[in-house]
Amino acid sequence: MKKVEKELEEIKKEVLNCKKCPLYKTRKSPVIGSGSLDAKIIFCAEAPGYWEDIKGKPFVGAAGKVLDELLESMDLKRKEVYISNLLKCRPITPDFKNRAPNLNEIKACTPYLERQIDIIKPKVICTLGNYSTAFIFEKYGLKNQIQGISKIHGKVFEVKTLFKSIKIIPFYHPAVATYNRNMKEILEKDFKILEEFK
Ligand code: URA
Ligand code: SF4
Repeated sequence: MKKVEKELEEIKKEVLNCKKCPLYKTRKSPVIGSGSLDAKIIFCAEAPGYWEDIKGKPFVGAAGKVLDELLESMDLKRKEVYISNLLKCRPITPDFKNRAPNLNEIKACTPYLERQIDIIKPKVICTLGNYSTAFIFEKYGLKNQIQGISKIHGKVFEVKTLFKSIKIIPFYHPAVATYNRNMKEILEKDFKILEEFK
């Protein structure tokens, strides 16, 4: 097994036993992430929803269909990129509906995502939606550039770390396109930027 595979396996083991926030009590299966460990592009979304929690894979519900269409429009395969979330377990309301992650959950869970990014070493991090955009911008010192996703979607931000530069590109969350046709068109247009990074 390659080193990166081993390291990712270790994260998987830890997540399966993780009790760092209360979501472990209600999850069916955590969603670690999926795709290539050599991916140039990492997508970072929010958290598992109903179907992801059942299947243990990211983006397998309605938003997943939108993401698949967007990837296909760019001739990208799921197995060429890596798809991850801020939270590995599904956040739910007391009546079992999906809800947004809260700050404590994000704080508890994102060290796993940060390790995934360190292992995969992507050239491009695509954030999907406000929550992951805020987290990734803060992590890479772009906090002063955080604006609502409606202002910065589809724009390329570059950060230089000691050894390389990483591009960060925020997008709307694909879920918004499941109930709004215009949003799908905006997402399709924004995704074209990925042509130069494939
Ligand atoms: N929405 C997300 O943010 N992540 C998924 O994996 C699925 C839907
Ligand atoms: Fe652990 Fe993250 Fe699941 Fe919370 S959401 S229990 S921190 S893996």
